[in-house]
Amino acid sequence: MLELKNIKKDYQTKYLTVHAIKNLSIAFRKSEFVSILGPSGCGKTTLLNLIGGLDRYNSGDLIINGRSTKEYTNKEWDAYRNHTIGFVFQSYNLIMHLNVLENVEMALKLAGMPKASREEKVLQVLEKVGLADKAKALPNELSGGQMQRVAIARALVNDPEILLADEPTGALDSETSIQILDLLKEIASDRLVIMVTHNPNLAHNYSTRIVEMLDGELVNDSNPYQVEEEKNEYAVNGKKPSMSFMTALCLSFKNMLTKKARTILVSLAGSIGIIGIALILAMSHGFQTYINDVQESALAEYPLSITRQAVDYSYLYDLIRDIGEGETEKVDEIKV
Ligand code: ADP
Ligand code: MG
Repeated sequence: MLELKNIKKDYQTKYLTVHAIKNLSIAFRKSEFVSILGPSGCGKTTLLNLIGGLDRYNSGDLIINGRSTKEYTNKEWDAYRNHTIGFVFQSYNLIMHLNVLENVEMALKLAGMPKASREEKVLQVLEKVGLADKAKALPNELSGGQMQRVAIARALVNDPEILLADEPTGALDSETSIQILDLLKEIASDRLVIMVTHNPNLAHNYSTRIVEMLDGELVNDSNPYQVEEEKNEYAVNGKKPSMSFMTALCLSFKNMLTKKARTILVSLAGSIGIIGIALILAMSHGFQTYINDVQESALAEYPLSITRQAVDYSYLYDLIRDIGEGETEKVDEIKV
């Protein structure tokens, strides 16, 4: 069960405060296809981001599985985002230098799934979205609809209980949009799908519930839900999201390989810096040695003799005293 209670979200800009969500309350069923409609700027994306844990509300409460998220730690938010929520965006957000399989696999890597079971899981979900034959293709070899399918596969591969889609058909033609909506409808048969759309026709034809928003508020709900009907379906998976050190290393290496020119330039600049410092150190050491040599050879030409001297001041003192007393004494020897 997912419930929002009196949620408020403000954005503070330099000159004014934008009240993006004003006191919004809504509850969702465990399995339904909800479309959110509303004019641009009315707060649809903000609402989706709050539900998905990508953004934090200012006041009110988001209740997941009967538990308030007010006291959620960062780790709990991470676990919620990684295991309970799947995101689909209008702009696909695929990694262009990874192929379809690797893009989808990334979600499993981030969730810390061991390598052995990853590929099979990815192929299963690619089959589900009708892209099994494109596993090795790069995103730029695919059509818009196919790219959105990859994004949907990536969102589904962790088997999330909630799928959030922000204008998933916004960049697609009407025929391709229908295919994507068919897919989302099928997905919604056993989980909650919340989709933001600009297209009321698609919303009416495919979703089971239409929520309309205006200026940060809910103005219409075609099929409202009272929380008492179902309870506590969404368990926030306790697993921590993690990526192994080897995975991070391999990804970095792969990234370096795909950006060869940049990597070579960075290495070159780094090498020049290091070589420069080494040269300066070597030169300063060489100069110091040279100066020491010159000093030694110059001083060798002028031999120095060091003598030891001692003056018996007590004798001088006696002498002065004697003179002062009017006696004259022959000074026969002054020890030096
Ligand atoms: P929609 O998705 O319905 O078009 P949004 O949720 O993106 O609307 O935005 C709702 C309001 O909040 C808009 O007025 C928008 O300008 C504002 N807004 C959204 N995100 C930010 C942000 N990061 N900083 C400041 N204002 C924002
Ligand atoms: Mg939006």
